[in-house]
Amino acid sequence: MTETPPRDPARFRPATRLVHAGRDPSAQHGFVNTPIYRGSTVLYPTYDDIVNRRGRYNYGTSGTPTMDALTDAWSELAGAAGTVVTPSGLSALTVALMASLNAGDHLLVTDSAYRPTRIFCDGVLARFGVETTYVDPLVGAGIAGLMRENTKAVLVEAPGSQSFEMQDVPAISEAVHARGGTLIMDNTWATPLLFPPHERGVDIAVEAGTKYLSGGSDLLIGLTSANARHFPAVRRTFDHFAMCAGPEDIFLALRGLRTMALRLREHGRQGLEMARWLQARPEVLRVLHPGLPEDPGHAIWKRDFSGASGLFGVVLKPVPEAAVAAMLDHLELFGMGFSWGGFESLVIPFDCTPYRTATRWAPGGPTLRFHIGLEDVEDLKRDLDAGFARLRAAS
Ligand SMILES: *Cc1c(COP(=O)(O)O)cnc(C)c1O
Repeated sequence: MTETPPRDPARFRPATRLVHAGRDPSAQHGFVNTPIYRGSTVLYPTYDDIVNRRGRYNYGTSGTPTMDALTDAWSELAGAAGTVVTPSGLSALTVALMASLNAGDHLLVTDSAYRPTRIFCDGVLARFGVETTYVDPLVGAGIAGLMRENTKAVLVEAPGSQSFEMQDVPAISEAVHARGGTLIMDNTWATPLLFPPHERGVDIAVEAGTKYLSGGSDLLIGLTSANARHFPAVRRTFDHFAMCAGPEDIFLALRGLRTMALRLREHGRQGLEMARWLQARPEVLRVLHPGLPEDPGHAIWKRDFSGASGLFGVVLKPVPEAAVAAMLDHLELFGMGFSWGGFESLVIPFDCTPYRTATRWAPGGPTLRFHIGLEDVEDLKRDLDAGFARLRAAS
């Protein structure tokens, strides 16, 4: 390969873009990667330059070559007009919301949204005069009937956090746009590799890069990408909050980006294999995974997504809580922890009942969320097999 990047990356497929986007070896003395630029002060050569803010960079919070390398690459991947990179997935969500709403506005949010999103809406947004109403994740085009005169934005997430309901994003997009609203999506589960958000009608898409972009469980970062109509507001909000991520974290995210397609394919393949294995277990009532033909969201997933990631849910047949504890305690390979998207397998118990407001969460038994990592699935099955034996013994 030459020292210069491909001239028109848009003509390449996503996996190729991941490898080449956002880097220009000719600008780095031939080195493959953009280095970590640390900096607050940016020097101007002359009086005229500083008075007129001439120069590509002005101040550390607003941009560096390292930051541009990631935001350019992400915009290319997501099909966005622009992207900002923030210190966490949650902060990327708050930038999207603050860019879209004013005092007196009304916001619709899926009842299946990531819980800290709800906490932000009910706390900060409410304090600043924005009212939030939660809606059935399966609402589809019916969202039109829930929009008020002052409904300015709708937030979707597919599949839902913990509960994995699939949302009909194109149908919701059409209804929201017919009324002049803004559609925001938390696209963390699929990433733009499996669901190109802006192509499917999303105005502002959020990715917790903490998950699959990192892939290492050692990084917190967020991305907010937007189409041409909404990017100026996103960029302004990012600048006003100075919501910039640290340069080392951006560098780690760039490193994760180059292998994300490969990792995601394996998480998806292994995840589906484990989901099928769990589905066949006598202790399991239902597996919540849109990639399974039996899942109620399967048709939409098949139509709109090009694959699955490694995160899904499992509903167990009713057993005492102590039996679930006996299963999860002493697992050798599966860790218990809240984040996901790294190379290692995880499991957590969850219950959406206490905070749902638009829909009743009644899955019929204790629920677990699995993240399938890059271990050999035969080892993972053996670990869970022993766990199920403990569960049965304690039932
Ligand atoms: C983890 C997560 C976030 C938040 O990301 P952080 O970097 O942990 O703040 C947002 N949305 C979804 C769906 C997530 O899973």
